Amino acid sequence: MKIARTLTELQAATKTLGETAFVPTMGALHRGHLSLLEAAKTGGRPVVASIFVNPAQFGPNEDYNRYPRDEAGDLAQLEASGCDLVWLPDVPTMYPAHAATTIHVAGPATRWEGVARPAHFAGVATVVAKLFGQIRPAAAYFGEKDWQQVQVVSRMVEDLLLPVKIVPVPIARDADGLALSSRNRFLLPPERAAAPALYAALTKAATQIVAGKDVAATLHNARHGMAAAGMVPDYVALVHAHSLEPLAALAPPARLIAAAKLGHVRLLDNVPVA
Ligand code: AMP
Repeated sequence: MKIARTLTELQAATKTLGETAFVPTMGALHRGHLSLLEAAKTGGRPVVASIFVNPAQFGPNEDYNRYPRDEAGDLAQLEASGCDLVWLPDVPTMYPAHAATTIHVAGPATRWEGVARPAHFAGVATVVAKLFGQIRPAAAYFGEKDWQQVQVVSRMVEDLLLPVKIVPVPIARDADGLALSSRNRFLLPPERAAAPALYAALTKAATQIVAGKDVAATLHNARHGMAAAGMVPDYVALVHAHSLEPLAALAPPARLIAAAKLGHVRLLDNVPVA
């Protein structure tokens, strides 16, 4: 596995690879990230992963400085999973002091995480566009764990005519249903025990909506289930799977999405509704 820390090293390394499959990450890797690498490998192209904790996608009172970092552990996992090249840029490489251009996102970025974290998706889109420009992958793999993010990135690629295929990858979960996340390590033991209530509430609500139960009442009950487990729900919504606009009644393609605070950790999850 090659490791590139400068643009010169990256350019030398990508030159020999031909068409690549790309997996962008912020590190602190877990089985969810590795499932993206597995999916990327099945395409038959050499796999490039990046690790970059992107300051632009964190709000001023968010956890940029506390975000988990474990470069040695990440590199060992990437090597073991057959990654061909890792890109480890530093902040000045991604955001030179003279930079004056960012990507403005609307549409699927407007609601939900876009409200809770106002600059988040502009930061994501900007760094992803830069990474695409540096690596020029044929395909890029994103986790459905961040469902809204996949829609925002897909919209950007279509709108800016970027020559890359976005491939969504299903959510990797622990045995009790909790979606894997780098931030789960910050859950205290009783919080970790309560956390599967989010997925449980979503799967129950999806089943009820498919069975024809009233959507507003079902979402209300799901919020209640989350609160009963000690969470502070932010949103629980039935949305159009791609535009992220709320749906008052089931109409495919639909997705149930939710966010809740548990202790100091913001949990995100979503399930299909069909
Ligand atoms: P992050 O390092 O959290 O920015 O995530 C990097 C990529 O891994 C994103 O495309 C995430 O959606 C994806 N990812 C994170 N957790 C999971 C998971 N549990 N299952 C599938 N993909 C995930």
